[in-house]
Order: sequence, then C-alpha cells, then structure tokens
Amino acid sequence: MWPASERYALQMAPGGLALVQDFLNTAPPGRGRGDDLLATETSAQAWIDDALVDRPRSEVPRITSRDLLELRRLREALRRLVTAAGSSAAPASKWDIAVSATLDQAGHVQLLPLGTNWKYVGSLLLIETRAAQEADLWERLKTCRNDACTCAFFDNSAGNDQRFHDTEACGEAQGDAPALSSTTA
Ligand SMILES: [Zn+2]
Repeated sequence: MWPASERYALQMAPGGLALVQDFLNTAPPGRGRGDDLLATETSAQAWIDDALVDRPRSEVPRITSRDLLELRRLREALRRLVTAAGSSAAPASKWDIAVSATLDQAGHVQLLPLGTNWKYVGSLLLIETRAAQEADLWERLKTCRNDACTCAFFDNSAGNDQRFHDTEACGEAQGDAPALSSTTA
C-alpha cells in the first residue's frame, strides 16, 4: 500500500497523512541508493496505483510525462515545508490546485479532490495536509536529519522530539546511508 515508505520499513502516519508521507518518500533514498519513484511515467503511475488503491478506479489519475515535473515540484515544496516545520523558513509556494467542498449528512464540511492528472494527486495531498494541520498531527511529520537518509517519518514520541527516523540506524551513523529495508511489497 505504501511502496515508497516500505523501502525504509517506517511506521506510517495515521489516516490520510500516510499518503503525504509516502509521497515525500518517493524521493530517492540518500546518495543514489535507490530510485526516484517519480522518475518515469511508469514508476509514477505504479506508485499512484498502489497509494490510491482504496479509491474508486475511475478516480485514479493517469500520469503523463507532463505531470512528472509538476509532481516532483510539489514533492519538493512539501518536503521543504516539512523540513522547515517549526521555523519561520517555510517557503511560500502558490499552487493552482482546486478542491471541492460539500456538507455531509451530519453537517460537517467535507473537502473532496478535484482535477485530473497530477492536479488530482495534488488536490488529495493538500486536503490531507490540511486535515493533519487541523488535527495537530502535521508537526509530527518530519524528514530524517541524517543527510544520507532524509526519509519522511512520523514522530510518535511523547515529546515530539525525534530528529532521526531511527536513532540507531541514522542518529549514530551520521553520514552513512542506512540499510534499506529488504522487505518486498
Ligand atoms: Zn533516517
């Protein structure tokens, strides 16, 4: 279900935030030790098909070569946002991405993704980002401070003070890329 994060054997963020986490982890693991899952149409489509497996097939967007650049730009912007969390260095990015708002039967506002191709993916990601921000979970999504790793992980610690996705693998072995998980999907 989360093919990008499986490469690190990570604990996933709860709910829809896991989609954002996995999107961030499509980036190549540190120092060229793995592939960028958004490098080609085929790999990006494979990631989207797996990550959106719970959504109706008719909604799962088709990715073309023109979408790849936008998806990678969005990933870079979200990674910067996560890395800069808690500082004032968060970049201002404007994205022309639409969402649809509706009321459910209980009277709660529901946001639904809109758009086609990469914009549908972007719409979903921004909806999940907002939901995490509302639930005070966003600050727990982090990138590992080991420069050779930089995977996106969810900090479940009581104090939300983890700097590495795995203190043993990344905290003490600064500069060495951690062993990638041998787990296969
Ligand atoms: Zn790490």
